[in-house]
Amino acid sequence: MPIYQYDCAGCGRRVDILFRSVSKAAKPCCPECGSAKLKRAVSQVARLRSERERVESIDFDQEMGHLQSGDESGFARWARRMGRQYDGELGSEFSQIADKADAGEDPIERVDPAHTLRWRIQKRREELSGPASGGDAGDAGGP
Ligand SMILES: [Zn+2]
Repeated sequence: MPIYQYDCAGCGRRVDILFRSVSKAAKPCCPECGSAKLKRAVSQVARLRSERERVESIDFDQEMGHLQSGDESGFARWARRMGRQYDGELGSEFSQIADKADAGEDPIERVDPAHTLRWRIQKRREELSGPASGGDAGDAGGP
């Protein structure tokens, strides 16, 4: 029987809720106040680690191979996949690029995607792997 942690918006507590089966996990209520305004609590440490592993695992050269193939539909598929996986982390434009490519438009962002992607991956890796000293380092110059 799975146990999940939730943050309750009703009483502000973090509560453990045990489910008799996974299929009945749809509508939990707070055991403290009965509120249904529960948000699944995510372990910050675990989340950071998995994000870092995910970004570390990006094979830049392989990804760029998709871009440089000159295959329009392949490019749209690639951008859509990148959007699903990394929107919000490496910027939110990948899904938009895919939409444009699907619509037959020439996505202007394609002019220099290699530079953009490389810079974003590097920046994200630094954010995730850097020492926790001071948090946001501010604008370090950019590309
Ligand atoms: Zn509550």
